Amino acid sequence: MNSSIELKRHSLSHIMAQAVLEMFPEAKLAIGPAIDNGFYYDFELPRTLMPEDLPLLQKRMERIIKENQVFECYTEPIAKAIDFYKKLKQEFKVELIADLKKAGEKEVSFYKNSTFVDLCRGPHVESTGKIQNGSFCLDKIAGAYWRGDEKRPMLQRIYGLAFDTKKELNEYIQMRKEAEKRDHRKLGKELGLFTFSDNVGPGLPLWLPNGAVMIEELEKFAKEEEFKAGYVRVRTPHITKGKLYELSGHLSHYKVSMFPPMKLDGDEEEYYLKPMNCPHHHMCFAATPRSYRDLPLRYAEYGTCYRYEDSGALFGLMRVRSLQMNDAHLYCTEDQFEQEFIAVTEMYLRYFKRFNIKKYVMRLSLHDPRELGRKYLDEPELWKRTEDMVRRAMIKAKVPFVEVPNEAAFYGPKIDIEVESAIGREFTLATNQVDFGIPKRMGLSYIDEKGNPQVPLCIHRAPLGTHERFIGFLIEHFGGMFPVWLAPVQVQILPIADAHVAEAKKIVDALRAQFIRADVVLPTETLGKRIRNAELLKVPYMAVLGDKEIEAKKLNIRDYKTKAQTEFAVEAFTGKILEEIRTRAL
Ligand SMILES: [Zn+2]
Ligand SMILES: [Zn+2]
Repeated sequence: MNSSIELKRHSLSHIMAQAVLEMFPEAKLAIGPAIDNGFYYDFELPRTLMPEDLPLLQKRMERIIKENQVFECYTEPIAKAIDFYKKLKQEFKVELIADLKKAGEKEVSFYKNSTFVDLCRGPHVESTGKIQNGSFCLDKIAGAYWRGDEKRPMLQRIYGLAFDTKKELNEYIQMRKEAEKRDHRKLGKELGLFTFSDNVGPGLPLWLPNGAVMIEELEKFAKEEEFKAGYVRVRTPHITKGKLYELSGHLSHYKVSMFPPMKLDGDEEEYYLKPMNCPHHHMCFAATPRSYRDLPLRYAEYGTCYRYEDSGALFGLMRVRSLQMNDAHLYCTEDQFEQEFIAVTEMYLRYFKRFNIKKYVMRLSLHDPRELGRKYLDEPELWKRTEDMVRRAMIKAKVPFVEVPNEAAFYGPKIDIEVESAIGREFTLATNQVDFGIPKRMGLSYIDEKGNPQVPLCIHRAPLGTHERFIGFLIEHFGGMFPVWLAPVQVQILPIADAHVAEAKKIVDALRAQFIRADVVLPTETLGKRIRNAELLKVPYMAVLGDKEIEAKKLNIRDYKTKAQTEFAVEAFTGKILEEIRTRAL
């Protein structure tokens, strides 16, 4: 499990502690693990660290690496180890060893390089020289409570980045810079897409006009695709009696993720905000008797759900408490399953193309037989059958996938789709689940050709995930430079002076008559400032309008993406942009 980079990162945390002790002999050491992109170590220090301290510490680390000090491991009886650290007044280490003693350990191991010794399980690189100078750097300083407990001392944490080579380190730093520039929280604010309000609550995004445009465009797109694929739409309330979730089993499996129930005065019933749309859709299915002739039946809804995410887990649009889901439930017979499943998979692939998503991984999540009756519905036969069906369908659709045990939904196997944004970050965007359990539990049935009642299979699918996460992803993926069809403002006309405003308005009116999102930016500010604003908003097309353009009956269009300037007659430009919108060009 210890890859070579983990060994290096872990060893670097020792080397950093060694350098800190050189600089501050009275420093008290806490803990220092390897992490995803490097390492950290927590210290109690005689003074607050400053950013200027980091290069000094790093120099010392580089010297230690050059000296190629060998890491030696030895063990000590626990009492002796406690004594050792007591003498050094390293109280945090004493506490750590005391805990090991309580846990029944008889001895503990140390790693020593040169004069530096640290309590550690290891393993390490053989010697400090195994690390390449240049492949790591000290990154930042942060505060951290001892043992994460706010009642314990606040320590200073130093983070380092570390990779196998200098090149990898530089690539990582570059990617992080780009990601910061594209951070959906930063761009979301700059582009006027969404906001949060303390008065509304954490994790409850408010979509501003520019964000609302994107939502409506995405929904229009999804509705058209779903219409062509034979879906029908339903609309269901945001709340329900608890009874629905007792029936579906969500209360026993999902309650921790739900908002607490509401009860009206004088009403016996408890109501819940819906954490998912399925049970409501199942009730639509159950509204009338069904025959095999009604199937497959595909119910779609951009449904708003509410999930009680821990406040510490909330993150921008990526983890929220209210979410609008590109949801649908497909009810079908076992015979129809394969075709339906393949059609859904192909829809995913079409969507990836539309959004220029080139890298994706499909993970088939399976059940674990040992968890039947607990984590998973106790239907061993059905699990095997549906997992085989999904596997066959995936192979037939010729979509590569990996199998992951023990990650299925509680009612059936699922496909999780991870996509990579243009700058290489991974997002889990969508899932595609097979459900053989809930329809049965909720008493859904149809009459087959022979007149016998049968339970339909249900496919849950949400290829565009939720608006929140998908738009968060799109912001990073496109760096805020959206394709024209998605861009909140598509065209801005900038009249040079008051004399040109009337003509600008006429042009914008003509564009808006074709449902092109065009605006006039009035000359209340300098032209330079207005041009900069249009660039900040990443408006795809901008045109400055003055005497020359009006005279020539031409628009001088600046393309934000290519920075090219091209002259167009208004009609020709209208035709071009309409075609881009119609084809949802990238
Ligand atoms: Zn260690
Ligand atoms: Zn569902």
